[in-house]
Amino acid sequence: MSEKSNSCQSCGACCAHFRVSFYWAEADDGGGLVPSHLTEKVNDWTRCMRGTWSHAPRCAALRGELGREVSCGIYPLRPGACRQVEEGSEQCRKARAAHGLPEPA
Ligand code: SF4
Ligand code: SF4
Repeated sequence: MSEKSNSCQSCGACCAHFRVSFYWAEADDGGGLVPSHLTEKVNDWTRCMRGTWSHAPRCAALRGELGREVSCGIYPLRPGACRQVEEGSEQCRKARAAHGLPEPA
C-alpha cells in the first residue's frame, strides 16, 4: 500500500497478493518499527508480514474488505517493502488484476 491515496483506501490488493518480505532488523525486536508479532521468519535474515507467505496471501495487518474499504493497521510502522509499492506501478497493476480490480485511474 503506497502513501495514502483514494485508490489504495479502496483496494488493498498488494497487501493480499505478494509475500511482503523485508530485512529482519526492520521488526521491533531487531530495533526497527514493524510489530514483530505480525511478522514471521523466512530465514535468518528475512522476515515477512504474517499471512503473506501463503497460497491465499493476506497481510495480518490489513483491515477491511479488499476492493471496497481497507486500511493498514500499522500504517506508520509498516515495512519499507510496503512503502515502495507505487500506485500504478507494475506490482500494483499485477496485484489489482489478480483480484479482478481495474487498473488504477
Ligand atoms: S495495489 Fe496499488 S492501488 Fe491497491 S493498495 Fe496497492 S498500491 Fe494501492
Ligand atoms: S503492513 Fe500494511 S501496507 Fe504492508 S502489506 Fe500489511 S496491510 Fe499492507
